[in-house]
Amino acid sequence: MKDAKLTAKTQQQTRSQIALSDTVTIGGRDLVIVGGPCAVESLAQMEAVAEALAVAPVQGIRGGVYKPRTSPYAFQGMGQEGLEILDTIRRRYQVPVVTEVMAIAQIEAVAAHADVLQIGSRNMQNFDLLKALGTVDKPVILKRGLAATLEEFVMAAEYILSHGNSQVILCERGIRSFDPYTRNVLDLGAVVALKQITHLPVMVDPSHAAGKRELVADLARGAVACGADGLLIECHPEPEKSVSDARQALSLEDMVDLVHSLRPVAAAVGRGIAAVTASQPSLTIPQYV
Ligand code: PEP
Ligand code: MN
Repeated sequence: MKDAKLTAKTQQQTRSQIALSDTVTIGGRDLVIVGGPCAVESLAQMEAVAEALAVAPVQGIRGGVYKPRTSPYAFQGMGQEGLEILDTIRRRYQVPVVTEVMAIAQIEAVAAHADVLQIGSRNMQNFDLLKALGTVDKPVILKRGLAATLEEFVMAAEYILSHGNSQVILCERGIRSFDPYTRNVLDLGAVVALKQITHLPVMVDPSHAAGKRELVADLARGAVACGADGLLIECHPEPEKSVSDARQALSLEDMVDLVHSLRPVAAAVGRGIAAVTASQPSLTIPQYV
């Protein structure tokens, strides 16, 4: 990859560590686990997620408010109202929030309400969007395209770095193949290779790779064993009622169990899971309805 001028591992002595907030950094010894629903649906839903996951612990909360849906008739996300819910959650629970930005016009508002900007698979090679992200002072989780080669993936990251933003986290989320049994094929070889080729942190999203909740935990453990620096996992207070990606959503209880099960795997490869230092909210536990 001769043009990987800024992303190549040979460009710097140490691996990049990227701060998602004052207290959470990815790329160091500790894993960063981000959990939450595919889509933000209500404040009560996100409060239930944040309450349950604080004890897991997870270090970040996800939730899409601009959703790239296959059908134009499907729920497209809560938009600005969803951004305000995420802002409430990050302030109240002192936890970084991750959400997708689909268009240049959304960047300013998303950057004002969220800690980390996610670029979805369908936009991995939206070069104008990548260039615009270069001018933003926020970390970016760049997801691998549905059928992107590793060179295309790394060069997409190179776009963001070369336009001025070095806070890029790569995310393997499965690639298209012939077998519909799993939604995609989780490419753990890519995780190993990306860590050899680049100095950037690498996350794994086993949820979109598997498409089935019963496959997620084992894939997550495999990803950690392969050197992933973090995980992005979909979970929901009432998984089967998720407005999008219901089939792959974990319950909050299963998410907590999954995080606990990661500890020995992390320890076996010299990694840890940090306790969440943020102050607990002074609220009573909200009822999710
Ligand atoms: C998502 O994270 O909900 C999402 C749409 O992911 P991807 O872009 O990987 O399909
Ligand atoms: Mn999803």
